[in-house]
Amino acid sequence: MASIFGHVAASSAIGYTAFPRNFNTITFLIAGFCAFAPDLDVLAFRFGIPYSSQWGHRGWTHSIVFAIVFGIVITLLYKALSPKNTVGFKTGLFFVLSTLSHPLLDMFTNGGRGCAIWWPFSTERIFFPFRPIQVSPMSVGGFLSEWGIKVLMSELIWIGVPLMALSLIVWWRRKFTIEI
Ligand SMILES: [Zn+2]
Repeated sequence: MASIFGHVAASSAIGYTAFPRNFNTITFLIAGFCAFAPDLDVLAFRFGIPYSSQWGHRGWTHSIVFAIVFGIVITLLYKALSPKNTVGFKTGLFFVLSTLSHPLLDMFTNGGRGCAIWWPFSTERIFFPFRPIQVSPMSVGGFLSEWGIKVLMSELIWIGVPLMALSLIVWWRRKFTIEI
């Protein structure tokens, strides 16, 4: 996994850059949850499911199919519970993309197994060829150590800086577009 910070930063950047002025804070928070949710699969270890299993960590929950289904389910729940009922296609797309950003970021990490991104069509674990992001520990204890600092520094460089640059470009472009 990348850390929860890296995943939530990715979903926020998607919301800001791809969907201008569409969403409120609650929608961003739910998207942040979507971006982190695939890692709830670490619970599989408690049930004795091995890492290498398609049902284990970075297995089925780290796939395109899961991102689509999970994003749609969360959208339908949000729509049912939303008093203003402003939840529509764009919200659903935001949630799907936020969920999908998770395995894509994990595939840039330098540790663990790859992601079963093509599940259920293939259970092969896949990484990108370029893997600069320091893999995050799975426990809070592990994160509160030198390893955690390494992870945060790595994510600042490889996730934070590119996303900030992209957001600034989009912000500047919107400002410029409004002015002309
Ligand atoms: Zn993950």
